[in-house]
Amino acid sequence: MSLNRRSFLGSAAGAGTLALLPEFRASARESRFTTEQLEQAAAKRVLNVESIKTPVIIESIELLQSGRDYVVHVRSKDGAEGISVTNSRAAYLYPILNRLVIPYFIGKDARDLESHLFEVYRYRSNYKLQGLALWCPLSWVEFALLDMLGRIAGKSLGDLLGGVIRRKVAYYIASGRRDSTPEEEVDYLSRLVEETGAKAVKFRVGGRMSRNADAMPGRTENLIPLSRKRLGDTIAIHADSNSSYDPPKAIEVGKMLEDIGAVYFEEPCPFDHLEDTKRVTDALTIPVAGGEQEFSQRRFRWMIHNRGVDIVQPDLQYYGGLIRSARVANMAQVAGMPTTVHISGGLGFVYMLHFASRTPDIGAYQEYKRGVERYSQWFDPPLESKDGMLSVPTGPGVGIANIPELLKDAERVT
Ligand SMILES: [Mg+2]
Repeated sequence: MSLNRRSFLGSAAGAGTLALLPEFRASARESRFTTEQLEQAAAKRVLNVESIKTPVIIESIELLQSGRDYVVHVRSKDGAEGISVTNSRAAYLYPILNRLVIPYFIGKDARDLESHLFEVYRYRSNYKLQGLALWCPLSWVEFALLDMLGRIAGKSLGDLLGGVIRRKVAYYIASGRRDSTPEEEVDYLSRLVEETGAKAVKFRVGGRMSRNADAMPGRTENLIPLSRKRLGDTIAIHADSNSSYDPPKAIEVGKMLEDIGAVYFEEPCPFDHLEDTKRVTDALTIPVAGGEQEFSQRRFRWMIHNRGVDIVQPDLQYYGGLIRSARVANMAQVAGMPTTVHISGGLGFVYMLHFASRTPDIGAYQEYKRGVERYSQWFDPPLESKDGMLSVPTGPGVGIANIPELLKDAERVT
């Protein structure tokens, strides 16, 4: 049983906990579940709109720009509305959204969203484009439709997607830099911790898709021990190589992370090299996380069934939204693996909060790159970050208070 490893993953990783891992890892190697069980888990219904008794016919979906934000705005024939705020990729993915995704949805019943996700994938051979360029636009429409359905039902997104089980979410603050020396990086992380109250951080190691080259000579091997020394034993540490290493180098870096009791090691090898990633997972006791670039449910199934990683990380936008990501979480749950979603821009961190509100095993800390300051007042009650925890919005839909006010200066993107 996965008790040792699960309790490890579910708590701030202390060096003392590491001693429990090898024993569990041996038992985790034998998968006690079949691919059929994973398929069944992925096929479980996620969206609950039973309380909406009449059709919600989609009349319009528009991409708007308001200041720096790209917003997808949906309306029903009966005048209901919903919005989503996209990552910055809308600046160049809008033709796919406008020509290949939106036309499918017009005239459809939004309550059937779950089955639309497959039909829009077939529509106009969209499956040939599958990847971030297709699934991002779909996720933006999905978030906006879910917002509209939530407003109609008077339910938050978490309640539409299985039921809210938590209202506060612990996060790690992500640095996102590689241009820093180890000393500068630790200074920066310390400032982030001070400013946000975060109990956990993530920094980057390696050079990013760099075939083992570091961002600067000696940065990684100096940064790892220095981070523990300077941040102290109570801060939980995560590290991300962004596909930098081959297995021997990844294992070497992973062992350094084990030595400082890090929580997990993210994307050690090129993201689509599933076998190499698994070799690293097999060799290390520290959990390996990955999946932010993944867009295939079947490849997630492979990673879960073969324990290619220990923690799956679909990106809520790159992977096509909350429902598809919930299907990954349902598969991961069969294996006793956490689903810690990756986030990318716009209101990504708010969709992460809703996902976390309804997903049983999300791991110890969720990704957060800041944004509360910018968007807090859009919500009623306002979003709050306190003591390293973010509050899950409680209002209907995504929780935004006043759509007309937000869109008053918005212009349509065609
Ligand atoms: Mg990453």
